[in-house]
Amino acid sequence: MRKKTGHCTLCDEPVYEVRTTWPEGHPYAGEPRELGAAHEGTMKLGFALTGGSTVELTFCEPCSHEASGNLVKIWQRCLATQAYEIRNITKIGTKPRTKTEMFQLVSSNMKLAQQVPLGVLYQRKWVEIRSAMKTEIR
Ligand SMILES: [Zn+2]
Repeated sequence: MRKKTGHCTLCDEPVYEVRTTWPEGHPYAGEPRELGAAHEGTMKLGFALTGGSTVELTFCEPCSHEASGNLVKIWQRCLATQAYEIRNITKIGTKPRTKTEMFQLVSSNMKLAQQVPLGVLYQRKWVEIRSAMKTEIR
């Protein structure tokens, strides 16, 4: 099963305020379209991938402690998300994707499928990231 925008990568618990949702008939009907602030306890986890790159994913607080033991499940959910987007691509947004955009998306999915996560690199509370961002802006 794929992960959903604005939800925990592992358990589907909402981790952000939802400002608007996608309308009926859309492939993401009822799911968040526009996100507000992160909930208290929302976590960002960085993962090291076998290809040498890193990826950052969002979790609820309880699942952030379970991530290391669920690497395969987490990755399957990420790949399923991209596969869903590829299947529904012409329906998402206001205009169909070009062949080049489609090729880039499929390539990205194949690349991700080959680079499984090795482990958790770091964990940060979303609230701390936001306050760090505010400090940099000033
Ligand atoms: Zn969770």
